[in-house]
Amino acid sequence: MTWLTEFDTRLADLDAAHLTRRRRVVVPEAGARMTVNGRSMLAFCSNDYLGLAGHPALKAAVHEAVDRYGVGSGASPMVSGYSAANAALEAELAEFVQLPRALYFYAGYATNASIVPALVGAGDAIFSDALNHACLIDGARLSKASIHRFDHADLAALDAQLAAEPARRKLIISDAVFSMDGDVADIAALRALADRHDALLLLDDAHGFGVLGPQGRGALAAAGLTGVNASPRVLYMATLGKALGVAGAFVAGPDTLVEWLLQKTRSYTYATAAPALLAEALRAALRIVGSSEGDQRRAHLQALIARLRDGLAPGADAAIDAAGWALMPSDTAVQPLVIGDNAASLRVMASLQDDGLWVPAIRPPTVPVGTARLRIALSAAHQADEVDLLVRALRSLARGV
Ligand SMILES: *Cc1c(COP(=O)(O)O)cnc(C)c1O
Repeated sequence: MTWLTEFDTRLADLDAAHLTRRRRVVVPEAGARMTVNGRSMLAFCSNDYLGLAGHPALKAAVHEAVDRYGVGSGASPMVSGYSAANAALEAELAEFVQLPRALYFYAGYATNASIVPALVGAGDAIFSDALNHACLIDGARLSKASIHRFDHADLAALDAQLAAEPARRKLIISDAVFSMDGDVADIAALRALADRHDALLLLDDAHGFGVLGPQGRGALAAAGLTGVNASPRVLYMATLGKALGVAGAFVAGPDTLVEWLLQKTRSYTYATAAPALLAEALRAALRIVGSSEGDQRRAHLQALIARLRDGLAPGADAAIDAAGWALMPSDTAVQPLVIGDNAASLRVMASLQDDGLWVPAIRPPTVPVGTARLRIALSAAHQADEVDLLVRALRSLARGV
């Protein structure tokens, strides 16, 4: 007898519950179009919010970097992997987010899963928003600190949990923009709670960096908490594979805390450094994000968000409302349309697909049970008439429900 045979049954159970995940093979086309399993589709699922992933300036930067540095970094940044390009990127990231120092990682998941255990451990306490990204949750579990989960955005509950916790070292962790809902955390209030309870605050701005705040400096800058107003108890983390169009992540904050993370983060020490070609692509991306071209891209994205909401938000279309579908309140590029049932959300996704529109259905456990949704992601790469096409398709599907 071996338990290995159970994997067949367990896979069948996933399938029966409509929880099997399938990958599609994609090749990018112009704008927001992609060839998906051989067929041209208009995609509303990329986190490339500013449309930079295929930008000529980023491609040129990569070509030059390959000629200078080759392809791989060859080692951990603690050994010989810390290229001049990576060092320059860190300085530019810190300056851009107006915080004292930044540390550049090869991936966001690895960053959060590893910086949380570097900050707190057994006997310490973590306070985590219920809708936090999986990598923050995994980091909290790895840390062996006790974990207090508070209901999404319930800062009164967080305040009470912080007050009741006797541990001396307390860490609050939160997405800055919630990845499956698109809403923005009340960062000023979180910081005030951190101050009041002598806690550290770690913010994950994967979906705000490049998009929110002046020049796209991110959610912390939008909250006015960078530069002279930077807090000694706030660590800012953001990923570089979304609005920046490349890959990787960084954490920025007070010098001492960042130095501690450099010394103690296992995914930093024991992983091969990100290649210089990515760092150079990111430096090029950062220059665009902070430029007037970046402003134009953000303005175009905001106009598309308003256009989609005009077409789908509650009250905009009787059939959408009657179907029980609800566009969540969000001002960001993440615009989730909650369908509710897993199978129903898959059916809507499949119908859109027949029309050449690719919008991913997101199901539990990524989102709470009963809130399966289409996660519509808009990008500066979309055109207004492409958003209109999606709105019309969804309105017509709602009439058939
Ligand atoms: C995408 C994402 C990550 C992971 O970043 P990767 O660089 O893709 O590993 C972390 N946090 C949030 C909120 C994300 O959306």
